[in-house]
Amino acid sequence: MSLKPKVGEAGMDLSRRTFLKISGAAGAGAMAVTGITPSLKALAQANQAKAGQAGEWIASTCQGCTSWCAKEVLVVDGRAVKVRGNPRSKVNGAASCPRAHLALQQVYDPDRIKVPMKRTNPQKGRDQDPGFVAISWDEALNTIADQIMALRENNETHKYMLMRGRYSYMRDILYDKMTKILGSPNNISHSAICAEAEKFGRYYTEGYWDYCQYDVKNTRYVLLWGSDPLASNRQVSYYSSVWGDVMDRATITVVDPRFSITASKADNWLPVAPGHDGALAAAIAHVILTEGLWYREFVGDFADGTNRFIAGQDVLEDDFVSKHSYGLVKWWNIELKDKTPDWAAERCGIPAEQIRKVAVDFGRAAPHCMSWVGPGNCMNTRGGYTALICHALNGLVGAADNVGGTLVSNKVHTIDFPSEEAFLDDIAKAGKKHGKIDHRGRLEFPALNKKPGGGVVTNNAADGILNKDPNEIKVAIAYMNNFNFSAQQPQRWEKALATIPFLVHITTNASEFSWFADIVLPDTHHLFEKWGYVKSIGNGYRHVPIMQPVIKPMWESKIDETEIPWLIAEKLAERGFTKMLDYFKTVIDPETGKAPTNEKEFALYCLKFTTHKLWDPAEYESGDKFSGWEEFRKAGVSNSAPYPFRKRWGKMSTKTKLFEFYSETLKEVLTMHAEKHGVDIDKVMEVCKYQARGEKAFVPHYEEPYILGDPKEYPLVFVDHKSRLNREGRSANCSWYYDFKDLDPGDERWDDVAKLNPIDAEKLGLKDGDKVKISSPTGSLVCTAKLWEGTRPGTVAKCYGQGHWVYGRLASKVFGKTPRGGSSNDIIPAEYDRLSGSSARNAVTRVKVEKA
Ligand code: SF4
Repeated sequence: MSLKPKVGEAGMDLSRRTFLKISGAAGAGAMAVTGITPSLKALAQANQAKAGQAGEWIASTCQGCTSWCAKEVLVVDGRAVKVRGNPRSKVNGAASCPRAHLALQQVYDPDRIKVPMKRTNPQKGRDQDPGFVAISWDEALNTIADQIMALRENNETHKYMLMRGRYSYMRDILYDKMTKILGSPNNISHSAICAEAEKFGRYYTEGYWDYCQYDVKNTRYVLLWGSDPLASNRQVSYYSSVWGDVMDRATITVVDPRFSITASKADNWLPVAPGHDGALAAAIAHVILTEGLWYREFVGDFADGTNRFIAGQDVLEDDFVSKHSYGLVKWWNIELKDKTPDWAAERCGIPAEQIRKVAVDFGRAAPHCMSWVGPGNCMNTRGGYTALICHALNGLVGAADNVGGTLVSNKVHTIDFPSEEAFLDDIAKAGKKHGKIDHRGRLEFPALNKKPGGGVVTNNAADGILNKDPNEIKVAIAYMNNFNFSAQQPQRWEKALATIPFLVHITTNASEFSWFADIVLPDTHHLFEKWGYVKSIGNGYRHVPIMQPVIKPMWESKIDETEIPWLIAEKLAERGFTKMLDYFKTVIDPETGKAPTNEKEFALYCLKFTTHKLWDPAEYESGDKFSGWEEFRKAGVSNSAPYPFRKRWGKMSTKTKLFEFYSETLKEVLTMHAEKHGVDIDKVMEVCKYQARGEKAFVPHYEEPYILGDPKEYPLVFVDHKSRLNREGRSANCSWYYDFKDLDPGDERWDDVAKLNPIDAEKLGLKDGDKVKISSPTGSLVCTAKLWEGTRPGTVAKCYGQGHWVYGRLASKVFGKTPRGGSSNDIIPAEYDRLSGSSARNAVTRVKVEKA
């Protein structure tokens, strides 16, 4: 059955007093007063413009996912009509992924928030219509400033909170500097619901806490762990454009319980039992060692050249001479010696012979091969160790920092904003000292981003707010986030947000989060209406693409990270608190030396200030060279120098400076955490739900998955995955999202399906097209059954992205009331990989599927 709405039947209950309706009507009213003519005429005119018609290509940046591609936008008569890759980028070049084009539907979405609005219904809840009415920017800013001043007057600035979703590197103004100057410890980013666990694996082996780039041009073997680079997981445009060549020259093996788009183009698909990837990785390492296939130039060798890695036998540490690695023999003795393919096959469900073949072929390709770790396989309750053991394979084959292997970030010369220290008064200094609302650093939440409590535990902030632990949150500002949709077990967020007395949401669309806000502010679209820059890596380069307003901002939208904080700072200064405005004025224009005098100058100067070294020839250090700001602005992107392969060998940022198979770095940080709480490391492991005890905690190893739900009641394991068309969950109000949904293998146009293997469907008495209810111990959703061999028997796979009950007239079935499709997060419990702080979203819950 098609869910496609017919003309005049947009799926909206028009009699319901929704804030979409209010927003549209109020927008028109406000425009009449202010003389602004935003007009949906833009859409009509954009449609008339044809490619090749007179117009200007203007550089900007796409943030539809964290690839952060440099783009160019064709602007005709002030309308953006087309988007393409910026050929000057050495990362993505002219390439574009399929979802780039959906940005046009986003910016001209008639359901965007058009003007500031305030809530008139004091009750908050999913069943409470907020009763939003239009207000002026002046009224909105005055209200916000009054709320902040009340906190300051009562020495309660620690009860202020900032929540961050999609950001540019202008983030420091709103996220970091403003929060500190106001005097709160509570700036909470979205990062831990995104991908922190994979960074944990890299940091505690080679001292690098970030995403990797993969040298696919020169590789001979690509081993992908739950990664689907043709759909998500960074540089989708670049990888999509070169994947044909990669397929020609390299063997590609995809480990994933679901047949992904990348699996459909691979040599091998290993439909692993969810959460057992670590067993497979351990067996691959075992075979590489017993077969003598490790890369000696990087790892080292036995002193006499005789391979003593024999299954079941300990090895003497003194017999092995390490080179650029550390602790291989310890790793073998503690974890690997018994991890044969037969042992792994029983756990991961992949035949032993196939494991052995993959291991041998992978080892023979050393060092030009890569073990590619994505969130799909390590965002689970014990996933930090999954990331550790899968990434450790890169050390074993000498792929780390090597040609055809896994690379880190190139150096680029952007500049930090000035220090805020001199602008913190006593109230701010005292406020900052309070505990954080996400509980990072507590015994049960180590969040070991380089140090105990160095990471964020995004999803746990809901519990912190709800339980007023360590304190209540009275005033909160959030931007471009939607935690009560995008975080697991979002029912907790709904309750938590309802307790915040004053909540401001800066957003392009009326999202689930906005529903609980007291004030909603219209945000700019990053690609078309904002000043900013980002940094990302790929193809052996790091680029710094800028975003700039290529069109006049639609309606009354303002830039989240710079313009809005400036305007709030002005209002605070009027009330006698000048520190924030004084600080902002230190961000001067490097060309003229002038301080900003208004929000528009501030937004521009922030970008010019932080990119100064990239465009000023007098400040040049490396990479692309420009004659000045204007040339850089027009080019829209600066590229680093090429990647310096092998430069980090022997100079890694670990405790030993080596690639650590026995992580002295993790041992040191875990010891610090345990000592802080007066316990031993075994206790930390126990409290945080890991199985490792003793020395095992310091080596890459297999941990059994921790999956909620009694198998008798919940027989299938739930597999969540991402779409090729998801612009981070923000494309749900774009018709092209639904029209092209079958770009995701197994999915259907204009529908939201749960993919079941026909073997399981038969047992459950389900057939194609049945409406089904999927239930877990924490929630349920309704969608359509799809029988599909691309789902591993015993699992059910479903794409993240649909199930919005607001966000727009297309995103929801009945705005404010009935979701279109079902949201995976509604059935995923709030569990964590506590060492990294990551939310668990795979191999974390069992479900039952029954006819709805
Ligand atoms: S959606 Fe992602 S991969 Fe696609 S163009 Fe935008 S940033 Fe690049």
